[in-house]
Amino acid sequence: MNKFLLLIGLTLSLNVFGSDFCSNPYKAVCENSPLSSIATYNKNLKEIRAQVSKLEKEDKFKKDSNNILPTVLLVEKMIEEKFPASTGFFKDGQVINQYKQSLIHAINNSDMSSNFKVLLTKKIEGVKFYTFAEYLTLKKAPTSSKSASAKLCGEDGLFINAFAESVTNTSDYIVICPGFVLKNSATNVREDIFTTSFFTIVHELSHHIDHSIDFGNNYRNFQKCIKENFELNKNPIFCKLQPNSNYCLTKSGAKMRELISDAWAYKAMALYMKANQFSIDESMTMYKKNVNFLCKSGSGITHQSAEFRVSTQVKYNADLNYQFSCNYDQTNLKECSF
Ligand SMILES: [Zn+2]
Repeated sequence: MNKFLLLIGLTLSLNVFGSDFCSNPYKAVCENSPLSSIATYNKNLKEIRAQVSKLEKEDKFKKDSNNILPTVLLVEKMIEEKFPASTGFFKDGQVINQYKQSLIHAINNSDMSSNFKVLLTKKIEGVKFYTFAEYLTLKKAPTSSKSASAKLCGEDGLFINAFAESVTNTSDYIVICPGFVLKNSATNVREDIFTTSFFTIVHELSHHIDHSIDFGNNYRNFQKCIKENFELNKNPIFCKLQPNSNYCLTKSGAKMRELISDAWAYKAMALYMKANQFSIDESMTMYKKNVNFLCKSGSGITHQSAEFRVSTQVKYNADLNYQFSCNYDQTNLKECSF
């Protein structure tokens, strides 16, 4: 038996969770029984910020709004000292390779052409992982507290976030914000950190293979399916049922990169659950742990609203639905995958 299965099994919810989950995944993830990992993150966040303020009061450290790098380095050092397990986890080559292999497995199980699969696999194999301080240093990114880079992890780096960027076609990387490391500090169990961070890391990896690199229209069927499902002029039924869904309120394709990366992450996650023989409850629990931090996010410039990402989109994702067995009505809306 796989050890991941055993560990997830210990935190299982009751069977009744399943039916609640299917009727409203957003409610099940965001409104019922908030997870202790978020509470732990909030507690640790307060402590780290208090420690920085204390050093400032004692004149041992001074924040500089023109250069956030010293603050980020200090925060990363504090997190590393307090939580060596989660800090080391995201720097571990074996772990990084395990996430990459999960996505490559999904690529090989997709209906993409074999040439495109080779291209996507090569891209994923070449992605590097950086800390926020490494990113600011290596990229020589602007470091004022008002800069675009400061907005990605926050001016002290403590947002729960990770992001993907490329300098050139041959230099693809992912940056793990210190806040994301902190979010995963509630446990020292490596397998638990791996499963809980799965969606975020694979989503970010997938940005290196989203349709911005697609010269052959390989995502055409997926894009068509999404548009037919969710766009106001194509499917008035959906938008009438969910008038506040931000997909209905946005222009076509504006956030397609995010939808593609979500779909890869969901596909890889579903295949991981299947390979580890997760039950329906275990699958829902893993999903919940992965996306709960999205609950408070509104619809931003790049991403869809939390409601759309956690609920609506998932209901029509073929790969996760197979794992959840929710059996949604597909009369007006189709399952979209690749
Ligand atoms: Zn994204």
